[in-house]
Amino acid sequence: MRTESAFPETGPFEALISKSARAVAISHFRPDGDAAGSLMACTRYLRGRGLEVIPVLPCPLADYLRFIAPAGCGLIDYETSPSEVESAIADADLIVCLDFNRLSRTEYLEDMILSAKGRKVLIDHHVEPDTAPFDLVYSSTEVSSACELLYRVLMGMPEVHGDVSNLTLEVAEDLYIGMMTDTNNFANSVSPSTFIMAANLLERGVDKNALQFRVLNNHSEPRMRLMGHLLKDKMEVLPEYGAAYMVLSAEEKEEYSFRPGDAEGFVNLPLTIAGVNLSAFFTECREEGYMRVSLRSRPGTDVNALARGWYNGGGHINAAGGRIALPPAEIAAYFLKSLEEYFGK
Ligand code: 5GP
Ligand code: MN
Repeated sequence: MRTESAFPETGPFEALISKSARAVAISHFRPDGDAAGSLMACTRYLRGRGLEVIPVLPCPLADYLRFIAPAGCGLIDYETSPSEVESAIADADLIVCLDFNRLSRTEYLEDMILSAKGRKVLIDHHVEPDTAPFDLVYSSTEVSSACELLYRVLMGMPEVHGDVSNLTLEVAEDLYIGMMTDTNNFANSVSPSTFIMAANLLERGVDKNALQFRVLNNHSEPRMRLMGHLLKDKMEVLPEYGAAYMVLSAEEKEEYSFRPGDAEGFVNLPLTIAGVNLSAFFTECREEGYMRVSLRSRPGTDVNALARGWYNGGGHINAAGGRIALPPAEIAAYFLKSLEEYFGK
């Protein structure tokens, strides 16, 4: 029988919390479920400890994640309220950064965070974190998600003492959402500890089916049709590299009423083809002047290295992302070249 393995040392975090009155929790640009879940779980936990906490993002949440932070929960983002974000970060005694390994992942917030007086804590699960700006770092790549690491930190806090019933239901739900989304609903990056955590959160009262339905089965009709179009007409398979890719242009985004978050999960689909070990999904971001890339791989292929080396990005070994300033018409040739160089062929 398995029991929960030892929780991280939380004394230093406890000391920072007890010395703080105002905190901000911050997560990354284009927040996904793990970013949103860890952000709000941390916010709600610290509020429960009596701190005034402002959750902060560089840009708004995608529609499908908005329910995590309903109106009145205090979430602010830089694109909508730049001056509020600036003063929240400047005034905080404690700055908790979640689900990113370097401050550049917060885009416009990087300099504000660097020059802020507050003590800085990082809770993250990406490889090779840049720990220099932080006073305290919780970093592990052995967990499914930032939410799993945050759960372990919270369970290790003195007043929680490893008993999930000491977390509120809202915190438990936020943590479950991050774990569910970052593992692609328990398909990837899971270990026995992930399932133990899930079991504990269900015991705490999390309604797994309701959250799954709300987050994963709540898409628009145009999004489903776009998926069909991409799979039928856009997916290219490169058997010589065991790779596949799709390119979504700005015109197609318009044609299918594309909303932020609509392409979530598309990159995983080609990996269900036998022999495909690496999948790339390119999205044209015309206003920003670049193509965003999402990369996924099966064990044995390191897409973090591909993202770092050729796409100005990074992430995890089997899930990474980045960007490249090229027009859609030039992506196919660049992708081929990147594979050729990466595989040394
Ligand atoms: P996604 O493809 O879902 O956007 O991202 C997959 C993983 O790669 C996530 O863990 C994310 O944090 C990381 N990632 C995505 N885009 C970037 C990027 O531009 N830079 C870095 N360093 N990591 C990224
Ligand atoms: Mn994550």
